[in-house]
Amino acid sequence: MTGIYIHIPFCKTKCPYCDFYSFKGEENQKDSYLEAVLLCLEGYSDRKLKVDTVYFGGGTPSVFGGERIERIISYIREGFDLQDNAEITVECNPSSTDEAFVRQVKKAGVNRASMGMQSAVDRERKSLGRPSGKEDIKRAVSLFKKEGIDNISLDLMLGVPYQNMESLDESIDFVLSLGVKHISAYMLKIEKGTPFERDEKKLPIPDEDTVADMYLHVSQRLGREGFVHYEISNFALEGFHSRHNTKYWQCEDYIGIGPSAHSCYKGKRFYYTRSFDDFISGKEPVYDGEGAGEEEYIMLALRLKEGLDGEKFRERYGRALDKSIFKKAERYEKRGLLKIEGERIYLTAEGFLLSNSIISDLIY
Ligand code: SF4
Repeated sequence: MTGIYIHIPFCKTKCPYCDFYSFKGEENQKDSYLEAVLLCLEGYSDRKLKVDTVYFGGGTPSVFGGERIERIISYIREGFDLQDNAEITVECNPSSTDEAFVRQVKKAGVNRASMGMQSAVDRERKSLGRPSGKEDIKRAVSLFKKEGIDNISLDLMLGVPYQNMESLDESIDFVLSLGVKHISAYMLKIEKGTPFERDEKKLPIPDEDTVADMYLHVSQRLGREGFVHYEISNFALEGFHSRHNTKYWQCEDYIGIGPSAHSCYKGKRFYYTRSFDDFISGKEPVYDGEGAGEEEYIMLALRLKEGLDGEKFRERYGRALDKSIFKKAERYEKRGLLKIEGERIYLTAEGFLLSNSIISDLIY
């Protein structure tokens, strides 16, 4: 089964911390972008290719408009074997989500919505360049629910300006009160070249230790509410994990369309450059090496709560996991950073916090 990711490179305004590829975009640019996406999809089109997830990310797909999204989904239906139970997600911003948009994407087959909330505290949201308030988020969530889309994910951000434990709890309370099924919790990362990088010293952001405590706090609180911490930054009620994103972590095939979109398809990795003009003019993606190799598989599997399973590894690569991995893992198990159960190794929430160094130590 394959997933299709469509990058929508348009946003109403640029958030000061963001380095995703996006810009405001005029209506005529959105029209030419639609045509370029359809043309690109045609290049992959294969009626025998089973597609079970489609994900519109960005950027802000909701500013692209429901009609254009509908055209893309219809095209995917015609050109691929889109499964009846496919997960079709659209990312949106509460401020650009209205009734007409929700109705249209629902009609097109969208059955999952992911919203960039970041914080329920208006002062924190404003510092992130998000003009919408709590009421807008509530309204957007209820619009989706009214149309029968209740598989909704909200993003929470940790370590944002003015945030403290108390205000984080306020955000968690708010998310829980909305009855969503999935929550992503990301730590704010100061990206190069963004206004946040320029102003970093002046930003009233919590220190690293506090952010680590916040992360563990989110994991514990959501855990008590029945959410499974199924990936480093993701929590879901039973059966509501993101099927599309899980493909990335399980080294399954996905095709990414649009400037900056990456693909792992038929054993190859490739990506489109971060250039609207390149994409519109049909420039070929850049080859990025072989995909889904052993190291990559181990690295990605350890991002998941399910972890690295020796049996699955053997089935896939025809050999056992190196004994040295288990040996090193024992040291981390003693420190409560991971667990070993039979042939399975998985990180704990404390281990997730140090995942980069643990994973590279286990592999190298
Ligand atoms: S809405 Fe999302 S993609 Fe757009 S600028 Fe803000 S953070 Fe970046």
